[in-house]
Amino acid sequence: MTETTPEDRTRLKNRTKLVHAGRRPSDQHGFVNTPIYRGSTVLYPTFEDIRAHKARFTYGTKGTPTTEALEGAWTELSGAAGTVLAPSGLAAVTLALFAAVKAGDHILVTDSVYGPTRLFCGTVLARMGVETTYYDPLIGASIEALIRPNTSVIFLETPGSQSFELQDVPAIAAAAQARGICAILDNTWATPLFFPPHARGMDMAIEAGTKYLSGHSDLLLGLVSANARWFPRLRATYDAFAMCPGPEDVFLALRGLRTLDLRLREAERQGLDLARWLAGRPEIVQVLHPALPSCPGHALWKRDFLGSSGLFSALLAPCSDAALAAMLDGLKLFGMGYSWGGFESLVIPFDCRSYRSATVWSPPGPALRFSVGLEDIEDLKDDLDQGFQRLRSTA
Ligand SMILES: *Cc1c(COP(=O)(O)O)cnc(C)c1O
Repeated sequence: MTETTPEDRTRLKNRTKLVHAGRRPSDQHGFVNTPIYRGSTVLYPTFEDIRAHKARFTYGTKGTPTTEALEGAWTELSGAAGTVLAPSGLAAVTLALFAAVKAGDHILVTDSVYGPTRLFCGTVLARMGVETTYYDPLIGASIEALIRPNTSVIFLETPGSQSFELQDVPAIAAAAQARGICAILDNTWATPLFFPPHARGMDMAIEAGTKYLSGHSDLLLGLVSANARWFPRLRATYDAFAMCPGPEDVFLALRGLRTLDLRLREAERQGLDLARWLAGRPEIVQVLHPALPSCPGHALWKRDFLGSSGLFSALLAPCSDAALAAMLDGLKLFGMGYSWGGFESLVIPFDCRSYRSATVWSPPGPALRFSVGLEDIEDLKDDLDQGFQRLRSTA
């Protein structure tokens, strides 16, 4: 057998890339997987080599064969020029932002952004003299009007990971490109399999590998991919921070990579089934699932995305806290907890009112976010059906 090269793999489908990228059995005595390289020190054979830092690997924080395997595979999958890793999804967000801003800059951030990203902008970036303006995720090409001479970044997240509005990525990318602004996308919901970020005009794309890449709720990891224009700056910023993930987590992410397509397609199938079932329930007013017409910006999902993952929200008819608690506390299959994308189903109550600043969030009643797992869908529906019965029988 002859091993595929990155060049060969540009002609292969994503499913095949996921199996072949990031592995070179000939480098590993024929073993199929890239093992966990643990290490700080890398030895240089000669004075000349160490003086010139001349080696494929130079020091543990800068990269190992394990991290290089994941970075390379993610670069191929994302259609990027390069990728760096981070110890969490949030660390990937902060790294990307640090790579693109300087004191005195102004940045535009979607009002639907992941909460901790907002916290970072309002605290650390504010302290560094970077001003943030939040924009309506449905703004589209009108974002032009919010751009100032010192705007350096537009930060998108589509769909929003609680409220699920979809953004007109190509229109926003065009506005950014026209002014030399760095467009950064938090692509965690879709992954590059369902939304190829750089082909859609993004300069940098973030993935919380903690979610679908892991798929097993057992690791924290972030990835930032960048196009050719931004990768050198991103890599230099990564080297300056030396915020590197642990080798076991990188190995587990490589393992998750092999089944990512399979798991994501199952999450899509199960998620759509559950979302449609919820849409038919009398307790539900609106389902916010990007692949359903009831989701704001659904037409953009249809135009730009290649699939939908298993995370979506539903708005309930007004009910008391006691009724909602009766529903949620008795669930046996849906766990209540943060994060998502694992094999197990989750549900959380959420309320965007406390942090929205550019848009108004006023659902008629409580809102729930579901992450559908790999359980039998009929069992999941039964669990929720019993929950709704408890909700209805509690005042
Ligand atoms: C979870 C999440 C993150 C952060 O990932 P962590 O690994 O938990 O830090 C960032 N963005 C989105 C959209 C997320 O859902």
